[in-house]
Amino acid sequence: MAARAAARRDPERVLAGGEKRILCVGLVCLDIITVVPAYPAEDTDTRCVSQRWQRGGNASNSCTVLALLGAPCAFMGSLAPGHAGDFIAADFQHRGVDVTHVAWQPHGDMPCACCIVSAASGSRTIMLYDTNLPDVTARDFERVDLSQYKWIHWEVFISKDLAQHFGYRSAPEALQGLRGRVQPGATLICAWAEEGADAVGPDGELVHSDAFPPETLVDTLGAGDTFNAAVIFALSAGRSLQDALTFGCQIAGRKCGIQGFDGIV
Ligand code: ADP
Repeated sequence: MAARAAARRDPERVLAGGEKRILCVGLVCLDIITVVPAYPAEDTDTRCVSQRWQRGGNASNSCTVLALLGAPCAFMGSLAPGHAGDFIAADFQHRGVDVTHVAWQPHGDMPCACCIVSAASGSRTIMLYDTNLPDVTARDFERVDLSQYKWIHWEVFISKDLAQHFGYRSAPEALQGLRGRVQPGATLICAWAEEGADAVGPDGELVHSDAFPPETLVDTLGAGDTFNAAVIFALSAGRSLQDALTFGCQIAGRKCGIQGFDGIV
């Protein structure tokens, strides 16, 4: 009864105990990360600085960051049984990410990304083997109790890679060009590496945040996913678009100064 009364007072709370969550729908994969002193030339033999397995994929990384920021969150996507799937499931659990909506697929292999991180520049080069694993379906999504979530993330944000693919040379140019292709009243957000990020709000207001470069660029793998998560975290807490953009760049900048995600907060 007390919980119900609290829920009436605060619509951001759910009845069955606790805060409403953020759901991220999309890719999880195994990242096999090799850190090299400098990006190697083709057909050379390099001794690397370190190697690690990491749970990766855009939606999955954003969940990691949301969990580190202290936001209750859930992941929805496909997993394949086997060593990689077990490793990933254990890591979700370790981070406290809800995996109720994970679809364990009976057929198909876990997507795997071999990533080269250059210690000299912090650059990340990704080679994704996105195999034959079926994606979650509309029917899977129908089973989600939407009342438990205050935010559901699919792909709203425009990445620099996608914008460049469409021929845009800057975030403001991408926003300008793509605005006419989304519903009126939509918010569009575009991050652009060391140039920070830009956004256009529902009323056409343009906002910008500079990047917050770390002292040393160490690892930019997942910077965009970190940015997205931090922006969602701030917007879902009712902060302004400008505040959210600035917070996103601050947290993403911190991520670029460390390997992986531990230490962003
Ligand atoms: P993606 O991982 O999608 O390639 P971006 O490279 O566009 O993402 O970066 C996302 C955010 O991370 C940027 O808006 C910026 O705040 C931060 N960031 C990325 N690279 C750098 C960098 N070299 N220096 C400072 N901040 C960076």
